[in-house]
Amino acid sequence: MAEEIKNEKGGISVETEHIFPIIKRWLYSDKEIFLREIVSNASDAITKLQRLISLGEVKDIEFDGRITVSVSKKARTITVSDNGLGMDAEEVKKYIGNIALSGALEFIQKYEGESEGATDGIIGHFGLGFYSAFMVADKVDVISLSYRGGDSVKWECADDGSYEMTVPYEKSERGTDIVMHINAEGEEYLNASTLRAVLDKYCSFMPIEIYFVDDDAETKEGDEADEEKPINDTTPLWQKSPSECTDEEYKAFYHKVFGDFNDPLFWLHIKADYPLNFKGILYFPKLTHEFASLEGQVKLYYNQVFVADNIKEVIPEYLLMLRGVLDCPELPLNVSRSYLQANGYVDKISAHIVKKVADKINSLFKNDREKFEGMWSDIKTFCEYAALCDRKFYDKAKGSLLMEVVHGGFVTLSEYLESAKETNENTVYYSSDVELQAQYISMLEGKGIKVVKFAQMIDTQFVQMLEGANENVKFKRVDSDITDALKADGEVEHSEKLEKLFREAAGDDKLTVKCERLTDTSIPAILSFSEESRRMEDMFKIYAAGGMNMGGGFAAENSLVVNVENPLIKKLSESDGEINALLAKQIYSLAVLSQRRFDENEMKAFLAASYEVLSKLS
Ligand code: ADP
Ligand code: MG
Repeated sequence: MAEEIKNEKGGISVETEHIFPIIKRWLYSDKEIFLREIVSNASDAITKLQRLISLGEVKDIEFDGRITVSVSKKARTITVSDNGLGMDAEEVKKYIGNIALSGALEFIQKYEGESEGATDGIIGHFGLGFYSAFMVADKVDVISLSYRGGDSVKWECADDGSYEMTVPYEKSERGTDIVMHINAEGEEYLNASTLRAVLDKYCSFMPIEIYFVDDDAETKEGDEADEEKPINDTTPLWQKSPSECTDEEYKAFYHKVFGDFNDPLFWLHIKADYPLNFKGILYFPKLTHEFASLEGQVKLYYNQVFVADNIKEVIPEYLLMLRGVLDCPELPLNVSRSYLQANGYVDKISAHIVKKVADKINSLFKNDREKFEGMWSDIKTFCEYAALCDRKFYDKAKGSLLMEVVHGGFVTLSEYLESAKETNENTVYYSSDVELQAQYISMLEGKGIKVVKFAQMIDTQFVQMLEGANENVKFKRVDSDITDALKADGEVEHSEKLEKLFREAAGDDKLTVKCERLTDTSIPAILSFSEESRRMEDMFKIYAAGGMNMGGGFAAENSLVVNVENPLIKKLSESDGEINALLAKQIYSLAVLSQRRFDENEMKAFLAASYEVLSKLS
């Protein structure tokens, strides 16, 4: 060839010696994103050419966009090739050799207003995209041929910002190859399976087909067909219209993206138009235990490019208990996290999602109550946590939030209050441990009072929240403040004698002993806690579980309620039998036992006393 070969040397403009170290330090913790950036640029280059064709600016090209990522451990290179619009020497210098100038920005400015949506789908604005390659490479070659023809170019850039350019170069097909010469920091990515995993993570849903090639792998027979399959799904489910998606598709997408073999309980497909412009699918996973719910995963995408998991700054934390994908092309990603938090757009996204989630819960409740009750145990923690974190969620969904009734069924708060009008107006009785509190529960049930279950850690706070949100309504654990509902009418005289007897039996000379007339005469005595002090104790436990040292803990005040209508108690107050002390001890122990578990010493003492009682009977 008689062509003159230009060889030009130079340095990146904009004080690169300052910028390179910053790039390395700034992005160091997240090295792997170099692949996202370089593949995104390839995708942009293809999208741009497709756009020029659709605008009629380019007439004689017809092509299928295609990106190839190849790795060679032997050559220590990772190469990303595209058949997009390519660049000539001037463009390489202008767009890549000049950090401050963003090609995508210029492209958008030029074609803005040309046609509706002409700039849709152009990925960019991640920051210093191309230069992120220097986190893993000490030299990067850009080899390109523009769609306009002309000379191809090879531009070799070292990590000190110096470059060398060769024009023309031996590239005959339109498009760009980015060859990264991997340094020690990027070593791990030379491993084909590691690189493939990073590619899958960020690029599984990119809009252009991506092929992966391990250059060192020996081709075996039958391999070829395999290689020809793109690694990505270019039209992910969230981009489709909800009316076009089947349940099977939603489930299959869930299984694939979250590697969960179980089906999700339900899902919602969100498509928010202008000005929010985001799409996504949120799944409610089936839970296996209380805290499983905290391990959800919401993946954030930017025009089908994965950005991050569980970004607290973008979605309220409680929504991160769910699983799903959100594609937010309007989100400014190259800004700080604190900016994202302060940014009104993020609040609006959150508010929109929260409203959709509440709507979905309400419609499930309304349309198929039975099915909804069937899944309540799986979504209860989410709903309560959401209500605690976000009053707006509570206000929207409160009519659908259920409480499980001990011995069957579910009720909403308003249904409970309606049915409690006659017996226990404005008071909701709940149990935190159905077995331990069986005695108390059956006493209340005997009066026709429903008891609901609130047995989880979160319930302590949820109950407080419900009281705050519903004036006049009080929640009482079944063993708290022996209530009027269980007492028979009439004054009861205090008995010094019983007080003394039971204080001795309990080995506690400060024990509060109250004489009451209970409607269930078969019960001699029960322990009663003040609801308030017990809640304090619960809060202390939560803090302690969270690793917070509150110093010594807190024990709720309790008192022994002695039922003067019970024959055994009557006998104790009327007689002075030798056996009275032993009987009182057993009655006290049984009252404790119906409230909590014994410790080791209490258990031994209880058994010994029980044998003694039996021997007296023989
Ligand atoms: P951004 O993508 O935000 O514009 P980058 O640093 O990632 O910033 O890329 C700088 C510019 O280099 C791009 O805007 C584009 O003009 C050009 N460029 C990078 N990679 C390619 C490619 N594969 N094909 C064509 N142009 C590219
Ligand atoms: Mg880019």
